[in-house]
Amino acid sequence: MEYIYFEGKIVPEDQAKISVKTNSLHYGTAIFEGIRAYYDKESDKMWGLFFREHYERLFKNMKVLNMEIEESIDDLIDITKELILINNIKSDIYIRPLVYFSDLKIRPKLVGYSAKITIYTYPLGDYIDINNGIKAIVSSWTRLNDNMIPPRLKVAGAYVNSAFSKTEAILAGADEAIVLNKNGYVSEGSAENIFIVRDGKLITPPVSDDILEGITRNAIITIAKDLGYEVEERHIARTELYVADEVFFCGTGAQVSPVVEIDHRKIGDGKPGKITKEIQSVYFDAVRGKIEKYSDWVVPIE
Ligand code: PMP
Repeated sequence: MEYIYFEGKIVPEDQAKISVKTNSLHYGTAIFEGIRAYYDKESDKMWGLFFREHYERLFKNMKVLNMEIEESIDDLIDITKELILINNIKSDIYIRPLVYFSDLKIRPKLVGYSAKITIYTYPLGDYIDINNGIKAIVSSWTRLNDNMIPPRLKVAGAYVNSAFSKTEAILAGADEAIVLNKNGYVSEGSAENIFIVRDGKLITPPVSDDILEGITRNAIITIAKDLGYEVEERHIARTELYVADEVFFCGTGAQVSPVVEIDHRKIGDGKPGKITKEIQSVYFDAVRGKIEKYSDWVVPIE
Protein backbone atom coordinates (compact mmCIF):
# COMPACT_ATOMS: atom_id res chain seq x y z
CA MET A 1 0.00 0.00 0.00
CA GLU A 2 1.35 3.40 -0.98
CA TYR A 3 1.29 6.32 1.44
CA ILE A 4 0.13 9.78 0.44
CA TYR A 5 0.20 13.15 2.19
CA PHE A 6 -3.42 14.23 2.47
CA GLU A 7 -5.24 16.75 4.69
CA GLY A 8 -2.27 17.25 6.99
CA LYS A 9 -1.34 13.59 7.47
CA ILE A 10 0.45 10.75 5.75
CA VAL A 11 -2.25 8.17 5.09
CA PRO A 12 -2.65 4.94 3.09
CA GLU A 13 -3.71 5.65 -0.50
CA ASP A 14 -7.27 4.41 -0.02
CA GLN A 15 -7.86 7.14 2.57
CA ALA A 16 -6.68 9.97 0.29
CA LYS A 17 -10.00 10.76 -1.38
CA ILE A 18 -11.76 13.99 -2.28
CA SER A 19 -15.43 14.71 -2.99
CA VAL A 20 -16.72 15.12 -6.54
CA LYS A 21 -17.97 18.51 -5.33
CA THR A 22 -14.41 19.79 -4.73
CA ASN A 23 -14.27 23.27 -6.20
CA SER A 24 -10.90 23.08 -8.04
CA LEU A 25 -11.90 19.87 -9.80
CA HIS A 26 -14.52 21.83 -11.72
CA TYR A 27 -12.55 24.93 -12.67
CA GLY A 28 -8.94 23.82 -13.03
CA THR A 29 -7.90 26.19 -10.25
CA ALA A 30 -5.31 23.85 -8.75
CA ILE A 31 -1.57 24.43 -8.69
CA PHE A 32 0.79 21.51 -8.98
CA GLU A 33 4.47 20.71 -9.13
CA GLY A 34 6.48 17.95 -10.73
CA ILE A 35 9.57 17.00 -8.76
CA ARG A 36 12.00 14.13 -9.16
CA ALA A 37 14.10 12.07 -6.82
CA TYR A 38 16.79 9.78 -8.22
CA TYR A 39 18.20 6.55 -6.92
CA ASP A 40 21.98 6.21 -7.13
CA LYS A 41 23.25 2.62 -7.03
CA GLU A 42 26.81 3.55 -6.07
CA SER A 43 25.88 5.51 -2.96
CA ASP A 44 22.71 3.38 -2.45
CA LYS A 45 20.90 6.65 -1.77
CA MET A 46 17.85 8.51 -2.98
CA TRP A 47 18.62 12.09 -4.00
CA GLY A 48 15.86 14.70 -4.06
CA LEU A 49 16.36 17.18 -6.89
CA PHE A 50 15.65 20.91 -6.48
CA PHE A 51 13.10 20.28 -3.70
CA ARG A 52 13.34 23.85 -2.38
CA GLU A 53 13.15 25.44 -5.85
CA HIS A 54 10.01 23.47 -6.71
CA TYR A 55 8.25 24.35 -3.46
CA GLU A 56 9.30 27.98 -3.84
CA ARG A 57 7.73 28.01 -7.30
CA LEU A 58 4.61 26.35 -5.88
CA PHE A 59 4.31 29.13 -3.27
CA LYS A 60 4.77 31.86 -5.89
CA ASN A 61 2.11 30.20 -8.04
CA MET A 62 -0.22 29.91 -5.03
CA LYS A 63 0.19 33.63 -4.40
CA VAL A 64 -1.14 34.41 -7.88
CA LEU A 65 -4.16 32.18 -7.25
CA ASN A 66 -4.69 33.69 -3.81
CA MET A 67 -4.10 30.36 -2.08
CA GLU A 68 -2.69 29.79 1.37
CA ILE A 69 -1.92 26.49 3.06
CA GLU A 70 -0.89 25.59 6.59
CA GLU A 71 2.44 23.99 5.67
CA SER A 72 5.64 26.01 5.09
CA ILE A 73 8.22 25.29 2.39
CA ASP A 74 10.42 23.59 5.01
CA ASP A 75 7.48 21.47 6.18
CA LEU A 76 6.82 20.35 2.59
CA ILE A 77 10.46 19.39 2.03
CA ASP A 78 10.39 17.31 5.24
CA ILE A 79 7.06 15.72 4.33
CA THR A 80 8.39 14.80 0.87
CA LYS A 81 11.47 13.13 2.37
CA GLU A 82 9.28 11.30 4.87
CA LEU A 83 6.99 10.05 2.08
CA ILE A 84 9.97 8.61 0.20
CA LEU A 85 11.22 6.88 3.33
CA ILE A 86 7.83 5.59 4.47
CA ASN A 87 7.13 4.24 0.97
CA ASN A 88 10.54 2.56 1.08
CA ILE A 89 11.46 3.83 -2.38
CA LYS A 90 14.72 2.88 -4.06
CA SER A 91 14.13 3.86 -7.68
CA ASP A 92 13.78 7.02 -9.76
CA ILE A 93 10.49 8.66 -8.88
CA TYR A 94 8.27 11.58 -9.67
CA ILE A 95 6.66 13.56 -6.87
CA ARG A 96 3.38 15.32 -7.43
CA PRO A 97 2.26 18.02 -4.98
CA LEU A 98 -1.17 19.49 -5.76
CA VAL A 99 -2.79 22.47 -4.07
CA TYR A 100 -6.53 22.79 -4.57
CA PHE A 101 -9.55 24.62 -3.23
CA SER A 102 -11.19 21.97 -1.13
CA ASP A 103 -14.53 23.73 -0.60
CA LEU A 104 -17.53 21.79 -1.82
CA LYS A 105 -18.92 24.81 -3.58
CA ILE A 106 -19.85 25.82 -7.09
CA ARG A 107 -18.42 29.03 -8.65
CA PRO A 108 -15.07 29.81 -10.24
CA LYS A 109 -13.35 32.42 -8.07
CA LEU A 110 -10.19 32.82 -6.05
CA VAL A 111 -11.53 34.35 -2.85
CA GLY A 112 -13.45 32.92 0.06
CA TYR A 113 -12.16 29.37 -0.40
CA SER A 114 -9.59 27.39 1.54
CA ALA A 115 -6.70 25.54 -0.05
CA LYS A 116 -5.20 22.17 0.85
CA ILE A 117 -2.16 20.30 -0.39
CA THR A 118 -1.74 16.64 -1.24
CA ILE A 119 1.54 14.97 -2.26
CA TYR A 120 2.09 11.58 -3.79
CA THR A 121 4.96 9.78 -5.46
CA TYR A 122 5.18 7.30 -8.29
CA PRO A 123 7.98 5.46 -10.08
CA LEU A 124 9.08 7.27 -13.23
CA GLY A 125 11.93 6.28 -15.49
CA ASP A 126 12.28 8.17 -18.76
CA TYR A 127 9.09 10.08 -19.42
CA ILE A 128 10.16 10.73 -23.00
CA ASP A 129 13.04 9.12 -24.85
CA ILE A 130 16.43 10.50 -23.92
CA ASN A 131 18.68 8.25 -26.00
CA ASN A 132 17.57 7.98 -29.61
CA GLY A 133 15.99 11.37 -30.06
CA ILE A 134 12.34 12.14 -30.60
CA LYS A 135 10.16 13.50 -33.38
CA ALA A 136 8.27 16.72 -32.83
CA ILE A 137 5.74 18.79 -34.71
CA VAL A 138 4.96 22.47 -34.47
CA SER A 139 1.47 22.50 -33.01
CA SER A 140 -1.47 24.36 -34.51
CA TRP A 141 -2.50 25.29 -30.96
CA THR A 142 -1.24 28.65 -29.63
CA ARG A 143 0.44 28.91 -26.23
CA LEU A 144 -1.55 30.73 -23.58
CA ASN A 145 -0.32 34.13 -22.50
CA ASP A 146 -0.01 36.00 -19.24
CA ASN A 147 -3.39 37.74 -19.55
CA MET A 148 -5.26 34.51 -20.25
CA ILE A 149 -3.94 31.76 -18.02
CA PRO A 150 -0.36 32.70 -17.13
CA PRO A 151 2.09 30.11 -18.53
CA ARG A 152 4.31 31.02 -15.58
CA LEU A 153 1.91 29.05 -13.40
CA LYS A 154 1.68 25.30 -13.17
CA VAL A 155 -2.05 25.70 -12.92
CA ALA A 156 -4.12 22.63 -13.74
CA GLY A 157 -6.44 24.39 -16.20
CA ALA A 158 -3.52 25.55 -18.35
CA TYR A 159 -2.70 21.95 -19.13
CA VAL A 160 -5.73 21.67 -21.39
CA ASN A 161 -3.54 23.65 -23.80
CA SER A 162 -0.74 21.10 -23.27
CA ALA A 163 -3.14 18.21 -23.75
CA PHE A 164 -4.36 19.65 -27.09
CA SER A 165 -0.86 20.05 -28.48
CA LYS A 166 0.48 16.74 -27.15
CA THR A 167 -2.54 14.91 -28.60
CA GLU A 168 -2.05 16.59 -31.95
CA ALA A 169 1.57 15.37 -31.94
CA ILE A 170 0.63 11.80 -31.03
CA LEU A 171 -2.09 11.63 -33.69
CA ALA A 172 0.39 12.96 -36.27
CA GLY A 173 2.75 10.09 -35.43
CA ALA A 174 5.22 12.31 -33.55
CA ASP A 175 6.30 12.21 -29.92
CA GLU A 176 6.04 15.80 -28.80
CA ALA A 177 4.64 19.19 -29.76
CA ILE A 178 6.41 22.52 -30.00
CA VAL A 179 4.01 25.35 -29.28
CA LEU A 180 4.24 28.88 -30.71
CA ASN A 181 3.08 31.88 -28.72
CA LYS A 182 0.60 34.52 -29.81
CA ASN A 183 3.36 36.40 -31.64
CA GLY A 184 4.33 33.32 -33.60
CA TYR A 185 7.59 32.67 -31.75
CA VAL A 186 8.60 29.32 -30.31
CA SER A 187 7.60 29.08 -26.65
CA GLU A 188 8.13 25.52 -25.41
CA GLY A 189 7.01 21.91 -25.65
CA SER A 190 3.71 20.66 -24.25
CA ALA A 191 5.40 20.17 -20.86
CA GLU A 192 9.07 20.96 -21.47
CA ASN A 193 11.29 23.95 -22.17
CA ILE A 194 13.23 24.00 -25.41
CA PHE A 195 16.78 24.84 -26.48
CA ILE A 196 18.27 25.02 -29.94
CA VAL A 197 21.97 25.00 -30.80
CA ARG A 198 23.28 27.13 -33.67
CA ASP A 199 26.98 27.44 -34.44
CA GLY A 200 27.96 26.16 -31.02
CA LYS A 201 25.70 28.60 -29.16
CA LEU A 202 22.64 27.61 -27.12
CA ILE A 203 19.48 29.63 -27.65
CA THR A 204 16.29 29.41 -25.60
CA PRO A 205 13.15 31.59 -25.51
CA PRO A 206 13.07 34.24 -22.75
CA VAL A 207 10.51 33.96 -19.93
CA SER A 208 8.56 36.78 -21.60
CA ASP A 209 7.79 34.40 -24.50
CA ASP A 210 5.02 32.66 -22.55
CA ILE A 211 6.99 29.79 -21.10
CA LEU A 212 7.04 28.12 -17.73
CA GLU A 213 10.02 29.40 -15.74
CA GLY A 214 11.57 25.97 -15.83
CA ILE A 215 13.85 24.82 -13.06
CA THR A 216 15.64 22.39 -15.39
CA ARG A 217 16.01 25.21 -17.92
CA ASN A 218 17.97 27.19 -15.31
CA ALA A 219 20.11 24.15 -14.51
CA ILE A 220 20.86 23.61 -18.22
CA ILE A 221 21.87 27.26 -18.62
CA THR A 222 24.28 26.84 -15.70
CA ILE A 223 25.73 23.59 -17.03
CA ALA A 224 26.13 25.00 -20.55
CA LYS A 225 27.89 28.14 -19.33
CA ASP A 226 30.15 26.08 -17.04
CA LEU A 227 31.07 23.96 -20.06
CA GLY A 228 32.08 27.16 -21.82
CA TYR A 229 29.11 27.59 -24.16
CA GLU A 230 27.43 30.88 -24.82
CA VAL A 231 23.72 30.89 -23.95
CA GLU A 232 21.35 33.41 -25.46
CA GLU A 233 17.77 34.01 -24.32
CA ARG A 234 15.89 35.46 -27.27
CA HIS A 235 12.92 34.92 -29.58
CA ILE A 236 13.17 31.83 -31.75
CA ALA A 237 11.36 31.83 -35.09
CA ARG A 238 9.75 28.62 -36.28
CA THR A 239 12.10 28.02 -39.20
CA GLU A 240 15.13 28.42 -36.96
CA LEU A 241 14.06 25.08 -35.53
CA TYR A 242 14.46 23.47 -38.94
CA VAL A 243 17.92 24.91 -39.58
CA ALA A 244 19.26 24.42 -36.04
CA ASP A 245 22.25 22.10 -35.59
CA GLU A 246 20.66 20.58 -32.50
CA VAL A 247 17.38 20.85 -30.60
CA PHE A 248 16.49 19.44 -27.20
CA PHE A 249 13.70 19.59 -24.65
CA CYS A 250 14.30 19.80 -20.94
CA GLY A 251 12.18 19.49 -17.85
CA THR A 252 11.89 17.61 -14.61
CA GLY A 253 9.95 14.83 -16.34
CA ALA A 254 11.60 15.12 -19.76
CA GLN A 255 15.12 15.50 -18.29
CA VAL A 256 17.27 16.30 -21.37
CA SER A 257 15.62 14.88 -24.45
CA PRO A 258 17.20 15.31 -27.92
CA VAL A 259 14.86 16.17 -30.81
CA VAL A 260 15.99 14.67 -34.12
CA GLU A 261 13.08 15.56 -36.39
CA ILE A 262 10.66 18.50 -36.54
CA ASP A 263 7.79 18.70 -39.05
CA HIS A 264 9.43 15.91 -41.09
CA ARG A 265 12.74 17.76 -41.34
CA LYS A 266 15.86 16.17 -39.92
CA ILE A 267 17.57 18.24 -37.26
CA GLY A 268 21.32 18.32 -37.93
CA ASP A 269 22.24 14.86 -39.13
CA GLY A 270 19.10 13.35 -37.62
CA LYS A 271 20.89 12.01 -34.54
CA PRO A 272 21.12 13.37 -30.98
CA GLY A 273 23.56 16.28 -31.09
CA LYS A 274 27.04 16.36 -29.58
CA ILE A 275 26.43 19.35 -27.29
CA THR A 276 23.05 17.93 -26.22
CA LYS A 277 24.72 14.66 -25.22
CA GLU A 278 27.50 16.46 -23.38
CA ILE A 279 24.98 18.50 -21.36
CA GLN A 280 22.81 15.43 -20.79
CA SER A 281 25.71 13.50 -19.34
CA VAL A 282 26.59 16.26 -16.86
CA TYR A 283 22.90 16.61 -15.93
CA PHE A 284 22.50 12.92 -15.13
CA ASP A 285 25.57 12.93 -12.90
CA ALA A 286 24.42 16.11 -11.15
CA VAL A 287 20.94 14.76 -10.33
CA ARG A 288 22.46 11.75 -8.56
CA GLY A 289 24.70 13.90 -6.39
CA LYS A 290 27.90 13.05 -8.25
CA ILE A 291 29.08 16.56 -9.07
CA GLU A 292 30.50 18.56 -6.19
CA LYS A 293 29.91 21.90 -7.89
CA TYR A 294 26.17 21.16 -8.17
CA SER A 295 25.79 19.47 -4.79
CA ASP A 296 23.31 22.10 -3.60
CA TRP A 297 20.86 20.97 -6.34
CA VAL A 298 20.24 17.72 -4.51
CA VAL A 299 19.39 16.59 -1.02
CA PRO A 300 20.06 13.07 0.26
CA ILE A 301 16.94 11.34 1.57
CA GLU A 302 17.92 9.68 4.83
N1 PMP B 1 7.10 23.84 -19.48
C1 PMP B 1 5.95 23.25 -19.07
C2 PMP B 1 4.67 23.69 -19.68
C3 PMP B 1 5.99 22.23 -18.11
O1 PMP B 1 4.86 21.64 -17.71
C4 PMP B 1 7.24 21.84 -17.58
C5 PMP B 1 7.30 20.73 -16.55
N2 PMP B 1 7.20 21.23 -15.26
C6 PMP B 1 8.40 22.50 -18.01
C7 PMP B 1 8.29 23.49 -18.97
C8 PMP B 1 9.74 22.19 -17.41
O2 PMP B 1 9.82 22.77 -16.14
P1 PMP B 1 10.72 22.18 -14.97
O3 PMP B 1 12.09 22.08 -15.51
O4 PMP B 1 10.61 23.17 -13.88
O5 PMP B 1 10.16 20.85 -14.63
